Amino acid sequence: MAEDFYKILGVEKTATTQEIKKAYRKLALKYHPDKNPGDKAAEEKFREVSEAYEVLSNDEKRAKYDQFGHAAFTQGGMGGAGAGGGYGGFHDPFDIFREVFGGGGGGGAAFYDFFGGGGGRGQPDPDAPERGSDIKVEIGVTLEEAYKGTSKTIRYNRIVDCATCKGTGSKDGKGGRKVCPKCKGSGHVYMAQGPIRFSQPCPECGGTGTVVENPCPDCNGSGRQKARNEVKIDIPAGVYTGARLRKVGAGNAGYNGGQYGNLYVVIYVSQHDRFERDGNDLYCAVNVKFTLAALGGQIEIDTLAGKAILKVPAGTQPGTSLRMKGLGMPDLRNKNSKGDLYVRIDIEVPKKLSSDQRKKLEEFAVLCGDDNNKGTSSSSEPFYKKFF
Ligand SMILES: [Zn+2]
Ligand SMILES: [Zn+2]
Repeated sequence: MAEDFYKILGVEKTATTQEIKKAYRKLALKYHPDKNPGDKAAEEKFREVSEAYEVLSNDEKRAKYDQFGHAAFTQGGMGGAGAGGGYGGFHDPFDIFREVFGGGGGGGAAFYDFFGGGGGRGQPDPDAPERGSDIKVEIGVTLEEAYKGTSKTIRYNRIVDCATCKGTGSKDGKGGRKVCPKCKGSGHVYMAQGPIRFSQPCPECGGTGTVVENPCPDCNGSGRQKARNEVKIDIPAGVYTGARLRKVGAGNAGYNGGQYGNLYVVIYVSQHDRFERDGNDLYCAVNVKFTLAALGGQIEIDTLAGKAILKVPAGTQPGTSLRMKGLGMPDLRNKNSKGDLYVRIDIEVPKKLSSDQRKKLEEFAVLCGDDNNKGTSSSSEPFYKKFF
């Protein structure tokens, strides 16, 4: 059984939160089972540094640990012996690892980047630059814009390096830091409540133990500032709702000189009053005069590609769907490939007939052997009433 959490992490008792985190990062990477396949000793070490980090990174637990010692802690919870009784055991070392290395909700992806991807970069340095976070914005486009492709200017807020101090946080631009006067560099301050002393992260330095010597007045020493940003995004033809476009480097500023995150633009294509979309196919409906549907002919219709001629075959029935090949949406990945437009035929029946028209239609009905208009032609009663 290992002796002491401070020794396990190789830090002083006075180490700042920042130093503890650094030490943990270094050791966790060194002993991670993925780097030491089958090495039981490394696995044990990995578990130990996780436990040590879990306690020492938490101000409340650390204060208890300092007060009651290692033994009380590691046996805590067993019969409530000593002050460690309130401590509820350790978390999964891999959870802690992901938390510290920022795998977050994204599962293992970010985490495996440390060992895979990069290639040849060797052991990551805990001081290494950290990439800034990504920003996601949603943008609406019309179906017409999605058809042709468009470009949009997007305005949003992001974190950038402070322009005055170039991200150093210090007035003279050199980034000099000094020991925090409030916590004397420990990163935490103690409060007393009855017989119990407990510690809190130092409000002055945010737990880092140091403050900027000569803080930049524009960013109060953080080296970062909020800024309005404007980027022009080219939206390719064929985009659909949920499509994601990336603008590299347009996200938030990184730390320690790390690169900027990315901007992700998520597309939302608004509903169209005439066309419905299913994948790359479009659907619409047109009214066709009953004579045209019966006789056949052609009509001009508006499509997203402009006016187009639709041939209506003789005898077209109401509800028939006619396909206009290639008049759908372009494919996002292959502009030359297009979906189809399906036109549903609605039959338009004249609401009023002139006496001439009526005469001809009656003649037509007789030709068809339909005498259904005989005797009821002047009646406005619907035909189904005749059944009752
Ligand atoms: Zn500044
Ligand atoms: Zn402080």
